Order: sequence, then C-alpha cells, then structure tokens
Amino acid sequence: MAVEFTPPHLAHATILGYPRIGRRRELKRAVEALWAGRTTTEELEATARDLRLTTARHLVGLGLDAGSAAVPGSFSFYDQVLDAVALLGAVPERFRDLAISADGAPGRLSLEGYFTLARGEGDKPPLEMTKWFDTNYHYLVPEIGPDTPIGFVDDRAVREFTELAQPADGGQAVVTRPVLVGPVTFLLLSKAAGPSAAALRGSQAHSSAAGDAPAGFRPLDRLDDVVAAYAEVLRALAAAGAPWVQLDEPALVTDLLDVPFDEVADAVRRAYSRLATDLSPAPGADGVPAERPAILVTAPYGGLRSDAGDGLALLAGTDVEAIAVDLVRGAVPTGVAGDGIAGTVPGLETKTLVAGVVDGHNIWRADLDARLTTLEGLTALGAGAVAVGTSTSLLHVPHDVADEPRLDAGLKSWLAFADQKVAEVVTLATGLAEGRAAVADQLAESTAVVRSRAEAPGVVVPTVRERTAGLTPADVERAPYAERAAAQQARLDLPPLPTTTIGSFPQTSEIRQTRAAWVRGELSDAEYTAAMRAEIASTVALQEELGLDVLVHGEPERNDMVQYFAEQLDGFATTVHGWVQSYGSRCVRPPVLWGDVSRPAPLTVDWTAYAASLTSKPVKGMLTGPVTILAWSFVRDDLPLGDTADQVALALRDEVTDLEAAGIGVVQVDEPALRELLPLRRAAHAGYLDWSVRSFRLATSGAQTSTQVHTHLCYSEFGQVIGAIDGLDADVTSVEAARSRMEIVPELADAGYGRGIGPGVYDIHSPRVPSVEEVTDLVSLAAKSIDPRLVWINPDCGLKTRGYAETTDSLRNLVAAARGVRATL
Ligand code: GLN
Ligand code: ZN
Repeated sequence: MAVEFTPPHLAHATILGYPRIGRRRELKRAVEALWAGRTTTEELEATARDLRLTTARHLVGLGLDAGSAAVPGSFSFYDQVLDAVALLGAVPERFRDLAISADGAPGRLSLEGYFTLARGEGDKPPLEMTKWFDTNYHYLVPEIGPDTPIGFVDDRAVREFTELAQPADGGQAVVTRPVLVGPVTFLLLSKAAGPSAAALRGSQAHSSAAGDAPAGFRPLDRLDDVVAAYAEVLRALAAAGAPWVQLDEPALVTDLLDVPFDEVADAVRRAYSRLATDLSPAPGADGVPAERPAILVTAPYGGLRSDAGDGLALLAGTDVEAIAVDLVRGAVPTGVAGDGIAGTVPGLETKTLVAGVVDGHNIWRADLDARLTTLEGLTALGAGAVAVGTSTSLLHVPHDVADEPRLDAGLKSWLAFADQKVAEVVTLATGLAEGRAAVADQLAESTAVVRSRAEAPGVVVPTVRERTAGLTPADVERAPYAERAAAQQARLDLPPLPTTTIGSFPQTSEIRQTRAAWVRGELSDAEYTAAMRAEIASTVALQEELGLDVLVHGEPERNDMVQYFAEQLDGFATTVHGWVQSYGSRCVRPPVLWGDVSRPAPLTVDWTAYAASLTSKPVKGMLTGPVTILAWSFVRDDLPLGDTADQVALALRDEVTDLEAAGIGVVQVDEPALRELLPLRRAAHAGYLDWSVRSFRLATSGAQTSTQVHTHLCYSEFGQVIGAIDGLDADVTSVEAARSRMEIVPELADAGYGRGIGPGVYDIHSPRVPSVEEVTDLVSLAAKSIDPRLVWINPDCGLKTRGYAETTDSLRNLVAAARGVRATL
C-alpha cells in the first residue's frame, strides 16, 4: 500500500454524471437512425464522439475544471449497466455468437451486437429491463451464470478518455473521470443464469435445464472474476493517463436486494482491497505509470446503509481515495447532524468526501445558504478534503431551464435542470473554499428565490388545503364488497368471465399526426375533436364486433397517461424540451408539479360519454391514479408526497363523480407505478404503502355502490406490495400476468384477495397473436387458484403500442377463449 501517496487533485466541484441523450435528443435520433438502417455505425460513432466532446467542453464552460477530473465520462449509447456487460464480455449464451466483433477481438460486441442484447433478435429475447433504484430510468439486467465469460474485452472507456484528453481537433482538452458501474453493484443487480448447454452436457451432476442457475448459485459468487477484469480496466485507464475513475456502488444504499448486508459489506471489502490496495496508484520511477487511477466510489440514491455496521466507515476503511455520499436523500453522516458532536470517521482523513448536496434527481433550485451550512458542518467528520457534488448523476433531469420558452418566468426562476445544477455546485465549492463573501450575490439570489417560491400564488391554495385537512377515515371507505358486487351485477348484467381491455387502443401514426397538427395550430379545436371522435367511434364499433363485454373509448386523445392529466390540472406545468432518458433511446418529459393541485374542469368526461353514447354495452372511464401521476412527474419538495397525493386524489374523485353523472358505470384508475415508488429501505415501506393506498381509495371511494371501480397494475413483480393491492379495495384489479403464467393469481388469493381479478392473458409487448388454446389454458389456470366467478379476461396492458391487425386477431381469440371456458362453467 502506498502510504505516502498523494492522489492527483480532484476538483472541488464535480457532478456524478450528466444527461447523455443530447440537448435536442441528438443521440436518440442517431441511434434510431442506425436501427432503421438509415446510417452506419461509423456515422453513429462520429455523432456520439461529437456529442461527448461538445458536452465535456460545455461543462468546462459552466465552470467545471478541465484538468482535474471534474467532468464525468458518463456517456452511454444505451445503458451504463449494458456498458459493463460489454466491457466484461459477459454475454448470455443465446447471444454468444455476437461476442466476436468485426475486429476479431474475442468476447467483444460490435455496436450492433451491443444493441441486439438490448433489443433482442428473432426469438432471442433481449436482456430484461428493470428500474434503476428509485428512479424512472430502466437498466438492462445482466445474466450471470457459473460459466458466463468475464474478462476485460472492451476498452471503450479508455478510448473515450483519450479522445477528450487528446482531442483530434486540437481544441480544448478535457481530462475526464471515466464512470463505471462498480463491481459489487454490477453483480448485485445481475440475475442468476444457468450454465451453458455445453457445460450441462459435460456434467451429469445436475439436471436443471439450461437457463436455470444451479441451486445456491448467486451472481455475487463471480466477484473475483469481475474484480480481476476491473483491475485490468483500471490498469488500462492509468496507462492512458486517467488520474481518476468513478465506480458507482448504489447497491450500498438499498436493503431490497436479496443478499444480506454483511455479505455485501464483505464483497465491498474484498473488491476494493483487490482494486485499491493491491494496485498501486503511485507512478513508479522512470515514468512507469501507476497501476490504477485514484478511485472515487459513489453511493447515490440514498443514505449509506448502516444496519450491519456503518456504510461510510466501510468505504472509509478501504484504500480508495474518495467517497461520494448522497446528502439529499441520505442524512448527513453521524456526529455532525443536529447534536453538533464531532465524530470523525476513521480512514476518512486520507480521503476526499464528495458531498452530494445538489439534488440530481429533482428539478428545484437548491437553497444554497442551507447547503453551504451542511457543507461547513462536514469538516467535523475529519475528511482529508471535502468536494461539492450532486447527490446522483444528473441523468434524471433535463438539460437546461433556459431552453424552456413557454414556462412561466416565476416558475422558471425556481428550477434548476442539469446545467443550472452544475452552476450551483460550482458556487457552493467556491463558497466552501473561499468563504461566503466570495459568493454573497449567489447566496442572496438563492435565498430570494426560495422566498419567492414559498410566497407565490398557487403554491399554497387555501381551499385545497382546507379540503385535505378536513378529510376523515370515512372518506376512504366504500360499502362492503358483497353489497357493491350485487349492485354492480344488477346494473351491468355481465356474463361470467367478462372480457375487457386495459384502455388504450393502437395509437396509429395518423392519430399522432393529427395531434401534432393540432398542437402546432394547423387544426382547429373543432377539427381535432371531430377526428378524435371518429377514432373513438371506430374503436367502439370494433369492440362491439369483437364481442367484448366492457368497452373503452381507446384513449386516442392521450399523448401520455400522465401528461394528459398534468396539462389539465392546476398546480402542474409541462415543458417543451424537458426530456429525460427512460431507457435506451426512449425519453419522457415529466411534468413539473409545483403547486397545490386542483381540477378546473372535467378531464375525460366528454370523450368517455361520447363513447358511451354509441353503444348499449358498459363503457369504462379511464383515469390515471394519484401514485402514478406523482411517480412520473417531478414532484415538489416543499410538501410531503402523501399530501400531494391526496390533492391529486381529490381532483380524480371529482372526475369520478362527473363520469357517474354522465351515466358511466365502470371507472378504471390505473396505478402501474404503485410498486415503482416503493422506497429503497424496508423501514420506509409501511409509511409509503399507507399514503399510496389511502390516496387511491380517496380517489375512488366517492363512487356509488353500483359503480364498478377497476384498477390496473403492471411493469413489476408485485410480491412486496401484495397486501397493498388488496388494500386498494378496487372491485376489479387487472394485472400483467401472461409472462409469469398467472403466478400472481394464487399469490393474491393467498393474501386474502377476494374481489374481481383480471390477470393478463397475453403479452402486449410483442406483435405475436396468442392462440385460442393458449388463452384458454391461461384462463383455466387462473380459475384454478381463485373463484372463477371473480376472473376477468383481458390483455396484460394497454394496446397503444400495437398495430390494429394483431390487436384485432388477439382480441378475437381472447373473446373466443372466454366463450369457450364460459360454456364449461
Ligand atoms: N390505461 C392505460 C393504457 O391502456 C394503462 C397503461 C399502463 O398500464 N401503463 O394504455
Ligand atoms: Zn399496464
């Protein structure tokens, strides 16, 4: 160990990552052009190179230092976890033939091969996708088995470093800090894969089919291999002259992963002893390069776990040179907070603490004065140095508020997107290093903004506050289910195994063009309404022809299930360029929830009532639930989420009343994000489930006894929220279930759920048409584990991404299967 080693200077102001999609979504366009066959990989590489260079210089222009690894090298073509898979050559067996690139390097994916892992090919499914911690970003789940190849096969990170440190255009050089998913987090996020077919043939010992990992195998068992490969990466980065590298270990902030924390801690100690202690960061004599760059380990998305020893002490006990902590979601480490007792952390005296005081996850301007006080308090921890950083990568926020022509000036002044956050970090670093006087103007301005926001009209609306304050437990109760079920059956007269859909019908390019023309002002309101009504009429006619039992209007008027509501509710604003990456090339524009929420006028009633006027069958009104609206928006930081959820719920409750007044007898309130907002710590689950379930009930319990309330859940494993699903008290719950072959039905039944259940009978993510037999099979399976009288038949999710051809065929088979099984009851 190099006791005397002084690490290269790490800038006092840095960010953990920056949006990579481009200010005008240049990367999205370029990547999709390659997929569509309109460009070559060379052209895509060139676009990406330009984007990286422009971004790095832009960040220097915003005040990050060009020479001291302040600028993160956080680019990715698709996903940072997939990047780690590519770097390691850890390719699942079904894609192994892709892992020999055009340049012949064994194990290395070409850029096309890389995208194939993300998107699948023919009958080879892509890597699974799942949510990245508690964000709306989705990563690809690596599949790691006992004999998955693992090595250092792709030097992209090294090339990207060099390309900016020695730019080909001879312009300004930027010494970046390459960012990689840390080895422990990589494995903890991986799913166990089976041994290869070849290995199975060679071994008679176990009989599991390829695809199933051998009993007891966990990806973390491959830690030594991954760490050995990372050691090679670090050597290569050092040889290229990289002074610093960033290894992201957010797994250290959650307790939802399967591995107990003492084992995680052990893995961290082992990994960083191999990487930080065994490799020397000090250059040798005669120009021999260091064996590795200085290492910054980050722990974003929450406080470091402390349930089995102190997470900060754990990292401080390793020989890494810097540690980044999230001080927005996480508490200031013990000894500093509140009581003022100075408690130093052993090991920290030789390290830089990167204090994540600027929120990387939300879009509000920071209260700089308060953050500076937090930073000043950190000196008591006894760190070798304190640098200022963001709590997480800025990946989760849009690029630049200045780019928003339509936002109200007042609201705009309260917001900080990525570029404004960089400026905040720079200001705080200056204030910390040179004293408050050096940034007096910025502090004063920030304080003024905080005050103007608190006092602005619309932020606190007394009538809204009075209404939420007056709520009582009776406001979230409906009549007993048996009574409801009887009244609803009398009103709706549905057959057993009723059929329905989840709401949306195909959003054809014609619909999207019509909407775009209307937004641009090329279509009048009347023309737009007429076009949408025509669409609704044909959707209703199709459903009647197919013989579905509960119809929908098809949601043609909705650009997005959250934005549609945000555009109409008071308290929300929407942006023009506020895109953030959701997964791969997919971007979303989350609305900004800035003030108390209320409903100035009905939101959906006209469309739904129009559909109902065209048929004698029941038409289901479609609403997005409060939790989902919050989950897919930037939420306010000046009111507890539960209180905001109640405000949204009351707006929806009024909508339900108006739908009923228009004669609608079935209302569905979608909550696909219920599982998504579940906190990263178990201790916080009860509190979350309490407010989320309450807000759903508040939205729906104003419904009459004879009104049938549906909900819909998807996108996740529901194990951890099974009890909550029952707590929603919906009359009918439709859930994604086809891929797991109805697994959720017995789980719900075991949890005591005894109301209507519509397990999805086919996956809407692919154009495949399910056969009648296949649907029959799944329906029979579901009817085995729960009273068949409770079972509904519907697809897994909305049909908006599908085409009409496969939708029509699939629904025809679905209805035929329902009729077939009905006849046997
Ligand atoms: N009602 C919505 C639709 O059908 C539900 C979408 C969702 O669950 N994500 O599109
Ligand atoms: Zn869904």
